Amino acid sequence: MVQPLPFIPEPFFDELLSSWLRRIAAEYGMALNQLIEYLQLEASSRASLDYREHPKDCRRIANALRISTKEVDTMTHKPLQGAGKQLLSWPFPIQVCRACDAFHRTQTAQKVQLKGWFEYWTLECGACRRSLSPLTGPKLKIANPQREDPGWYSEILTHARHGASEVMRYARNPRFFAFSPLACLELLSKRTGPLRYNAYKPNVKFRGILNPENHCIAELLIPGLSDKLDQSPLIPSRWRSDHPTKDVTARTLLLAALALFLANPASAWAKVQERICYTKGVEIDFWLSRQSPHLAQRLSPNSTRTKSAEHVSQLLQL
Ligand SMILES: [Zn+2]
Repeated sequence: MVQPLPFIPEPFFDELLSSWLRRIAAEYGMALNQLIEYLQLEASSRASLDYREHPKDCRRIANALRISTKEVDTMTHKPLQGAGKQLLSWPFPIQVCRACDAFHRTQTAQKVQLKGWFEYWTLECGACRRSLSPLTGPKLKIANPQREDPGWYSEILTHARHGASEVMRYARNPRFFAFSPLACLELLSKRTGPLRYNAYKPNVKFRGILNPENHCIAELLIPGLSDKLDQSPLIPSRWRSDHPTKDVTARTLLLAALALFLANPASAWAKVQERICYTKGVEIDFWLSRQSPHLAQRLSPNSTRTKSAEHVSQLLQL
């Protein structure tokens, strides 16, 4: 058994295990792989440390670094199942807390990475509760509702937190779900095609400034969003289970739409069907036919009854 190390820097709140070990290694003038070797761990990479691939390592790390195995556990990602595996970004984070990042820089010369920065369902920093930011700088061409309309955005955030918790629960335990919230996200990020404007803005004529191809179904469900899209699309990329959108603003809006959608799928879907164009409706019906039948059932709970009613009426006419 390796003797406990004499000096160990404190981990930051929510710090990822590999980030902390790399900082400890630096204190002793070592690289991370040299520390792994010194601690006699079975892990051979950052990924195997952070994803708990070797359960025995947890006790060895706890012993050498004088913390509990539970604390080591909380610094790693819980293993995810199925399509949920894509909801952990690796090897690069998808987001960052600018405030915590600035604080870390005042405390250490080493790079610090927090666990939540890699999780698609984490919208706010676990340490300071601020909204997480994209890794890249602001794009001037893309609207930032968080900065331009903070009141509206904070309302959306409340819904997004509900959507995010559903996605997290699904990623950890998909067997408890009749249909996948990730499939719903894919549905919500589909394009509407030319909108039926008169259906929802009876007094406003189409002014030719909206690009219908850029509208997502999600935008039809989020209160107030249709009015904020005159200049640039807020949800530019499609969500796919194997490739979740990395745009942080788009992700938050999609999660908000997911919560509103899941609250009453049939009513939300009826609202969407009023507005999307016929061609897109047919495309989506085809897509739905390849998804879990439970999803189609929740979208149109009366569809079987309606079909039977039509059938009976045809028989009566004969
Ligand atoms: Zn923070």
